[in-house]
Amino acid sequence: MTRAALAIDLGGTELRAAVVEAMGRVAAFAATPTDALGGPQAVIAQMEALIGQVRAETPGASIVGLGIGAPGPLDPDAGVVVDAPTLQGWRDVPLAAILSERLGVQVKLENDANAAALGEWRFGAGQGTQSMVFITVSTGLGGGVIVDGHLLHGRRGLAGEIGHMTISERPERCACGGVGCWEAFASGTALAREAARLVASGDAPEMARLAGGRPVTGRHVAEAAQKGDVPALKLLDDEARWLGIGLTNLLHLYSPERLILGGGVGSLLPLMHETIKQTIRERAMSAFRDVPVVAAALGRNAGLVGAASLVLKGAA
Ligand SMILES: [Zn+2]
Repeated sequence: MTRAALAIDLGGTELRAAVVEAMGRVAAFAATPTDALGGPQAVIAQMEALIGQVRAETPGASIVGLGIGAPGPLDPDAGVVVDAPTLQGWRDVPLAAILSERLGVQVKLENDANAAALGEWRFGAGQGTQSMVFITVSTGLGGGVIVDGHLLHGRRGLAGEIGHMTISERPERCACGGVGCWEAFASGTALAREAARLVASGDAPEMARLAGGRPVTGRHVAEAAQKGDVPALKLLDDEARWLGIGLTNLLHLYSPERLILGGGVGSLLPLMHETIKQTIRERAMSAFRDVPVVAAALGRNAGLVGAASLVLKGAA
């Protein structure tokens, strides 16, 4: 029998489940669109169905428990989803207790970005470090902080909300309701906003052509930049500068051995690396300037693998 864990990644649009072996290998995987409007009971039923599927594919696995990554804020000790803004009706749901009773295994719950940080730390680009920060840049900007060999939780498990450190006086509105957050300047949403401004001004014909009348996205910026389009490269350069500013703060706060960049925009690191490093060289105290900024290694599996590691290796 192979020792393995069940894992669930609860997203606002997609619900994913896996069986993950002790060394981090995904042995079985299933996904379905999240019934985000159906309320907790409907989504929990979806979870049970997906777990049934992945268990059926791995009859030889000895299951030690279930790890779940879910949107915050949540209480990892109590296993309670406090309030998931992208999921209707998810307020104070004791998800770990409910699934533990139904499945008959131990269940651990963790913030989804923290779960991904654990995944990269234990099985991905952060292996071998004692301190690292994982930053995921896609629609939003989030992450998780590993310091001195453990995941930083803070009061109510809320530490490491790195996307909402306030970073500019420019009144760009953030999805959290605040203004001036790092996320409001460096997320994929912010990149698309800047691209849309450029397209509307008529100064970005290649991106306008790629968008074809639909809203311009970060993906269009990336595609144009890869072809050498000057306005797109300028947008990515600005993006890299905003990332470099936030990363400089993370260096000073946590003194990580490595900064690990993931997510859709994060995957454009090769196009942004030089400007990110230059921004860090300009702004960081000299002792921090040589810390590598590297690409995440696990892609979309980071959250599942990290969630599984909650029960494979004990709580962080
Ligand atoms: Zn914010």
